[in-house]
Amino acid sequence: MSAMIIRNGRVIDPANKRDEIADLLVVDGRIAGRSGVRDQRSDIEEIDAKGLIVCPGLIDIHVHLREPGFGHKETIESGGRAAAGGGFTTVVCMPNTSPAADNPSTIAWIKDRAEAVACVNVLPTGAISKNLAGEELAPIGSLAQTGVIAITDDGHCIQNHEVMRRAVEYARMVDLPVLDHCQDYNLVGNGLVHEGYFSTLLGLPGWPAVGEEAMVMRNILLAELCDHHIHCQHITSSGSVRLLREARARGVKISGEVCPHHIALTDEAIQNFDTNYKMNPPLRSPADVEALLEGIADGTLSILCSDHAPHADFEKEVEFDAAPFGIIGLETELGLFLDLLVHKHRKIDIARLIEMYTVEPARLLKIQTGTLSVGARADVTLIDPNLEWTVKIDKFESASRNSPFNGWKLKGRAVRTIVCGKTVWKL
Ligand SMILES: [Zn+2]
Repeated sequence: MSAMIIRNGRVIDPANKRDEIADLLVVDGRIAGRSGVRDQRSDIEEIDAKGLIVCPGLIDIHVHLREPGFGHKETIESGGRAAAGGGFTTVVCMPNTSPAADNPSTIAWIKDRAEAVACVNVLPTGAISKNLAGEELAPIGSLAQTGVIAITDDGHCIQNHEVMRRAVEYARMVDLPVLDHCQDYNLVGNGLVHEGYFSTLLGLPGWPAVGEEAMVMRNILLAELCDHHIHCQHITSSGSVRLLREARARGVKISGEVCPHHIALTDEAIQNFDTNYKMNPPLRSPADVEALLEGIADGTLSILCSDHAPHADFEKEVEFDAAPFGIIGLETELGLFLDLLVHKHRKIDIARLIEMYTVEPARLLKIQTGTLSVGARADVTLIDPNLEWTVKIDKFESASRNSPFNGWKLKGRAVRTIVCGKTVWKL
């Protein structure tokens, strides 16, 4: 028998509406009842959590672990360590690997690999279409049987609405959530940065907000038609927030997520042509950032995530138009969201922030984690909400370094990550 007691922390467990100073007991990798706390055992590991928040292990539903195929950017092992270093006990990995995760054998490989080397739980998604090409559906039924947690073509977007409709209908049949990277290729064209003042000033091709909004609207219509949930990934524009707010008020099964860079930065940051500010979807205007903050505050945007997108230096250190999109995020996202949403803008309190990283993604994915209920797997994160720290990317666990946040001073971060009753990372 193994046991651990986490003493005197502020236990925040939104799934059970719990927020109190208490001890948390873990026995054999599971959360144990309070009555067990008084039961003194000699081999018990004691952790002092005074001044810390003790919450369910955080879940990041949007991560690129890059294997198979791109191990020079990240591996399942290094990405798992980065997740743990950010306070995450579960990550959902995207299918744009090589080969693409559009078939059962690639999914089986990812699961085997994660089982062997990842220190956190890795839940793979399957592609919606073969090779993420948007033309022919992937074998969604077989993917479901292999245990994918959801389907998505992230990095790409199915343009043909009829193909997307059939995907949503199949997903409904096998009870899989559909996640979508919303990008209308005709409207976006070769767009690199937000279409607005700075794209004009710099002479860079614009990526208009309407290119996202058109697909958010398409997804609302299909979610309604097919009576099945569609989750819109990395929402960036005020128009998307308005569309989601209206649809959710009507009861449509639609949701949206936010990444920290889309609220921490605006398109003004691209002026120096630093490719660490090049993301897809792009950094947007201050008015869009304000709308995202309001969407988070009123619950329209219900999930926080990173879109952790590692790239090697040699890939990012090229001309702006030649560089790949995306930044790493697992080790900065909690600090950025705590600093911006809770401390600076005061849009949500810390219990809601934890809920957006636990209960909300667990509900979308229909998984049994994200709670400290007695009997639940002991995935636990300890957070110091007031710890002031400076981002130093050369200290990160990720195999890549493409972050625009190096040197930022943030308030709040995870200090210990526990998976299945074992500490897998601590500060
Ligand atoms: Zn994406």
